[in-house]
Amino acid sequence: MTSERAASPYPDSAEEFRQRVQEFLSAQLPAGWNGLGSIPTEEQVVFIDAWRATLHRNNLLAVSWPESYGGAGLTPLDQLVLAEEFTKAGVPQGGLNDNFSIQMLGSTLLKFGTEDQKQYYLPRILSKDDVWCQGFSEPEAGSDLAGVRTRAHRDGDEWVIEGQKTWTSYGHLATHIFVLCRTDPDAVRHRGLSLLLVKIDQPGVTLRPLKTLTGEEEFNEVFFDGARCAVESIVGEVNDGWRMAMTLLGFERGEAAATLPMKFGQDLERLVQLAIRYDKAGDDTVRQRLARSAEGVEQMRSMGMRAVSQWVNGHEIGAESSIHKLFWSEWLQETTELAMDIMGIDGIIPTGDGLQGMSFPAAEAGTPNTSGAWADYFLRARAATIYAGSSEIQRNIIGERILGLPKDAR
Ligand SMILES: Cc1cc2nc3c(=O)[nH]c(=O)nc-3n(C[C@H](O)[C@H](O)[C@H](O)COP(=O)(O)OP(=O)(O)OC[C@H]3O[C@@H](n4cnc5c(N)ncnc54)[C@H](O)[C@@H]3O)c2cc1C
Repeated sequence: MTSERAASPYPDSAEEFRQRVQEFLSAQLPAGWNGLGSIPTEEQVVFIDAWRATLHRNNLLAVSWPESYGGAGLTPLDQLVLAEEFTKAGVPQGGLNDNFSIQMLGSTLLKFGTEDQKQYYLPRILSKDDVWCQGFSEPEAGSDLAGVRTRAHRDGDEWVIEGQKTWTSYGHLATHIFVLCRTDPDAVRHRGLSLLLVKIDQPGVTLRPLKTLTGEEEFNEVFFDGARCAVESIVGEVNDGWRMAMTLLGFERGEAAATLPMKFGQDLERLVQLAIRYDKAGDDTVRQRLARSAEGVEQMRSMGMRAVSQWVNGHEIGAESSIHKLFWSEWLQETTELAMDIMGIDGIIPTGDGLQGMSFPAAEAGTPNTSGAWADYFLRARAATIYAGSSEIQRNIIGERILGLPKDAR
């Protein structure tokens, strides 16, 4: 056992897998590779597509899925090790939609899907025959998902869907959408929902792009006007969609608890260099704010290790994940605000490469230390306290489920 391995909190088997991942990375990545952020924006999309295909060929897209569904049959700890090494190397773990396809839907199907659904959908997700996006939020139902109004009714062997979804990230890149809809209009709120698997390319589904603050078309409105799917395209039982949705959202975080602090550590290093470059490293306020950022990274690392050790041991993270979500999203806003303050006027006249869409939710390793990149990152960070559960909602969850405070009046 090497001294490095002795110092690792991971068992030998995981460290052996880490070595394999490192060898894979050095064999596959171009010489001098410095992270996705270091290549020009227009090349990033091409790189991600090719990289995803390489991962698929080497069975590294969903290493902890059973082999019978196209996975590698390894453990969740191996999956975590892979995520850590990929984050360090500045390469993604899949394509732009794989958070929806693999982490969210794939994991939910593994838990609740029928055998037919698993056999059919899971290999198609990995081969990219099916690319998924998430159709949960509606104009009047984001935080309050139980208020979903998109309806589905039975017509023979099919469900017929009417309604509207919004903020559908990467919907324009997807072939399919998982839709939370109301299948029993008379049942009380969350009791009458179902989760349906719907093809996008069919009459009755219309996508309209929405522009983000950074000027990109990253998400969409989706309109359903008599769209159809087979009755078997339901995950779980009819009217059990709330439980499916909560499970699926639980998979949204996964190993991010361990990998986000790594990315944020890289951001912080760039920020310190920025402060030195702008001759602000001696400024007391800047020093205090940098120290606070550094403290935040360490706190996230400790919280992440705790969450991840629960997760790899098969326990659900539960309400505690709200603390992480709240913490990292607010850290990101504070830290990118600090970058803007350090740059002063340069922050509003950005120059150099930006991030432009490829660095969601945190900047990628190798991102240039330009005012363009920081200004873009600052703008993107505004949304971090909204998506994946807003800060107000996280505070309610922490108050009610962790601290045991009386329920908020609704
Ligand atoms: C970048 C981005 C990408 C997204 N991608 C997707 C996607 O791919 N698919 C998808 O389905 N959705 C997506 N969303 C939607 C996201 O999940 C919702 O925006 C989020 O759940 C908040 O809902 P809302 O926007 O309807 O705000 P609302 O729920 O209307 O909330 C408005 C404000 O009121 C507060 N509030 C609401 N209820 C309470 C309460 N009970 N107590 C205290 N405060 C409250 C909220 O915290 C918020 O500040 C995305 C959003 C963003 C910003």
